[in-house]
Amino acid sequence: MKGILVIDGNQGFCELISTLCGDLGLKATCFLSFEKAIAEISLGDYDCIFMELDLQGIDGPQAIGIMTGMCLNVPVILMSGEHASILSTAQYAGKMRGLNIVSTIAKPFSVDELSSLIQDAADRQQQLEGQQPAAPREKVENLRPGEVIRLVEAGHLQCVFQPQIDLNTRNVCGVEVLARIDHPEQGVITPDRFVNELENCSLIEVFNEYLFNHSFKAYKAFGRPDLTISINISAYCIRNELFPDFISTLAKQYDISPSKVILEITESHGLNFSAQSLMIMSRVRIKGFSLSIDDFGTGYSSLETFSKVPFNELKVDREFTSRLRAEERAKKIFELAINLSKQMGIVSVAEGIEDEEEASLVAAIGCDVGQGYYFGRPMPSEKFMEWLNWELKEAPWKQVSI
Ligand code: C2E
Ligand code: CA
Ligand code: CA
Repeated sequence: MKGILVIDGNQGFCELISTLCGDLGLKATCFLSFEKAIAEISLGDYDCIFMELDLQGIDGPQAIGIMTGMCLNVPVILMSGEHASILSTAQYAGKMRGLNIVSTIAKPFSVDELSSLIQDAADRQQQLEGQQPAAPREKVENLRPGEVIRLVEAGHLQCVFQPQIDLNTRNVCGVEVLARIDHPEQGVITPDRFVNELENCSLIEVFNEYLFNHSFKAYKAFGRPDLTISINISAYCIRNELFPDFISTLAKQYDISPSKVILEITESHGLNFSAQSLMIMSRVRIKGFSLSIDDFGTGYSSLETFSKVPFNELKVDREFTSRLRAEERAKKIFELAINLSKQMGIVSVAEGIEDEEEASLVAAIGCDVGQGYYFGRPMPSEKFMEWLNWELKEAPWKQVSI
């Protein structure tokens, strides 16, 4: 290991941390202010940087800003004796600006806590060094709604399928459909480049007709009527009086039980509580379909939604899953969402699970269903069918004792 760099205004604390590191066979270089440490930091030649937030002169948040400009790759661990929420916000803001803040630690802490943090940081660093830096993304234009429909009508709509796992049994229990446009010149285009514009105009209905047909056809081909199928819909659908009959007729046509169909609605996409929308959502539920509140915890999530809309599933946004491990505050909100869904008697789903640790963590909190790259990336239908066979026998998450 290359050693750790410590920035803390308290001489006594610097001596303590140096001794603790020495006991672990590590070299610690300490600075009493950020100003004195700058030259050393810019070399980036450390396994990790421990930095106190409450520094004299340039303080922690200012230091984070300066380090961002240095394009550092070194893991940073923030320390503070202040309230946990201050640490957590500084970490979040630093990460948003691209600094590799791997964790925070509230003072005072134990030797064990310190040594496990240093070890984690070193492991992460080794992993990073083995990876190629990501190529910068070119700025690309969004597709216009008219162009999307033209492409969809010409057969360029692609649906990909991402599995959902029952966190109690660890078996697959559902699948979410995600839309793609296979552009003749630009290749596969993800929804961030076409869905928003489309959702705000009536062409979303034409798009949905294709999407539902495509999805139901693939779902039948999977031959797994035990699985649920989740489809993202826009607020436009629930303003349309014809939508409940449209979806019901289509499900009959494909002989799919409405009890297996989950319609996901994102609040920030203009969900409203007009009498008309509430009636339409009630009719959708009466016909046997499920309604899921998507991206819970971001944007405009409000308790009003819960009190008025007949949802029977809650999907916690992947932002919370990814922050769960390192941020106590994200964990609290996650727990709140799961408790809320339990009290309402509805199913909870965690998005964005990327490893076993996250899967176990969300399961321990009481979340019912998990979805994310750990279990499977969104796949074209043929790949998803292969995945289903593989999952039955070989899925590694089934080997984990629960
Ligand atoms: P969403 O419904 O929250 O979908 C989950 C998004 O997270 C997907 O991105 C998926 O590829 C990605 N994802 C899944 N697991 C992981 C993970 O473990 N880690 C990470 N980093 N990401 C993960 P995608 O496909 O780009 O979709 C983005 C959004 O576009 C969706 O968010 C949904 O709001 C919207 N969308 C997708 N398909 C449709 C559609 O057919 N109709 C409508 N109205 N919106 C759609
Ligand atoms: Ca969704
Ligand atoms: Ca989401």
